[in-house]
Amino acid sequence: MKSYRKELWFDIKNRREFINITRDVERCIADSGITEGMVLVNAMHITASVFINDDESGLHHDFEVWLEGLAPEKPYDRYKHNSYEDNGDAHLKRTIMGREVVVAITEGRLDFGPWEQIFYGEFDGKRKKRVLVKIIGE
Ligand code: ZN
Repeated sequence: MKSYRKELWFDIKNRREFINITRDVERCIADSGITEGMVLVNAMHITASVFINDDESGLHHDFEVWLEGLAPEKPYDRYKHNSYEDNGDAHLKRTIMGREVVVAITEGRLDFGPWEQIFYGEFDGKRKKRVLVKIIGE
């Protein structure tokens, strides 16, 4: 069995962002030389997510509105966590959007259903952040 590990770094300009990282993950699979196996992709931060969904701007707007409805950023004093920080909402948003995804690799490609794409979801950005890609297989 072969294994491969890589960190993808992103310079996140805004507090909240969704970034399609599918091409980055495909590049990792090509670099790994693994054609049959699994790829794990996870956020390395507790205020960010990796998830799979459609690359459609209306849907991304709907995610933003839905998440703000569930866990609004402000007022900051709404969250006990914010006695030391201002990112209580970001921890909650990350929890509901998930930490990681696992995708099958078949014949050297992501074995996706229709329209599936991998996203990094940032909820407390404005700095450098990273994602772990771990691939196992042969
Ligand atoms: Zn925090």
